[in-house]
Amino acid sequence: MKVLFKNIKELLQIRDENTRFVSGKAMNELPTIKDAFLLIKNDVIYDFGPMKVCPDEAVDHVIDATGKMVLPTWCDSHTHLVYAGQREGEFVDKIKGLSYQDIANKGGGILNSAKKVQNISESELYKQTKGRLDEIIALGTGAVEIKSGYGLTLEAELKMLSVIKRLKENHQIPIKATFLGAHAVPEEYKNNKAGYVDHIIKEMIPLVAEAKLADFVDVFCEKGYFTVEDTNRILEAGKLHGLQAKIHVNQFNSIGGVQAGVKQKALSVDHLEVMKYEDIVVLEKSKTMPVALPGCSFFLSIPFAPGRKMIDAGLPLALATDYNPGSSPSGNMNFAVSAACIKMKLTPEEAINAATINGAYAMGLEHKVGSITKGKQANLILTKAISSYHFIPYSFGNHQIERVYLNGVEVV
Ligand SMILES: [Zn+2]
Repeated sequence: MKVLFKNIKELLQIRDENTRFVSGKAMNELPTIKDAFLLIKNDVIYDFGPMKVCPDEAVDHVIDATGKMVLPTWCDSHTHLVYAGQREGEFVDKIKGLSYQDIANKGGGILNSAKKVQNISESELYKQTKGRLDEIIALGTGAVEIKSGYGLTLEAELKMLSVIKRLKENHQIPIKATFLGAHAVPEEYKNNKAGYVDHIIKEMIPLVAEAKLADFVDVFCEKGYFTVEDTNRILEAGKLHGLQAKIHVNQFNSIGGVQAGVKQKALSVDHLEVMKYEDIVVLEKSKTMPVALPGCSFFLSIPFAPGRKMIDAGLPLALATDYNPGSSPSGNMNFAVSAACIKMKLTPEEAINAATINGAYAMGLEHKVGSITKGKQANLILTKAISSYHFIPYSFGNHQIERVYLNGVEVV
């Protein structure tokens, strides 16, 4: 099967196969070819270049992209796509001024989501999650990480991870699974958090790893949730069982979570709304990707991660949606890109790098997706006719996507 895109107004994010991520000043460079062609052969990007050297060979399908752009699909490296029901009632309660405690008393928060996941059948949970996966693919996402963490019992966590496994089997989109048993302390361990941490380490992680249900392990390292010491213990247990770390840190407080992540060679540290100088410094010599979640900052009205400061310090940065029912009920990467420009002062080039190649790295998928590179999966966005790629973040709350391709096949 050969598909040829021709007359592409601008082909974005061209990289050689050695580029694993971009950082610092290099984030402001977005390599492109104007008036380009791109040839897909057997699911992968086979060739591309300026139209004047467009191959003159027989193909199965030609797409005339006059006036339109082609770029790699978005790589969303942090989501909680598996959940049951919605929490818009809580959203309205918050607007009306109810406190977090009032909402929790009315049955809100993570523990409320956990009860719903515990009580739903796996097939119904799969159905709801598949709907959200289809929705984000239509918004241009072509690789995604999905976490457990709304189960909080062994059985319910395995149910969530089984749903992710079935999504992996039934969809073209690359999916990475993360075990987040340490998302919150469940009700039955309310006065025995150490017991829950032991349960995670001794029972949950070994079973999850043995069943090959997760690629990564995650912890919500935050005051009132899991301490740095809990985090280190859980990540070490994960490492022993072959699960690399990706962790929630510095959402509300800087308590040493970034340092723990770097020490444990985490693939990414995510959230970072509150960053001290030493949190930035410790990341400088690491291979750990900082990940900002602007949708969560927007929805909760909390500070945005200081992305400008981090990039100016020479760090890389990735963007993800944090799609979840409580703090970011949107999986729209187009919005994440806009918000990064508008609220975090990233340039469009930086935001697009953060949402593609750096997002791919934050999932360990940089060899497969995230750039226009020969041999990578042909997961592509074809835009509408637009004046420049700056229009993508500029048209916030909207998107400029005409078609989405996964493995070279039009899916939207
Ligand atoms: Zn999250």
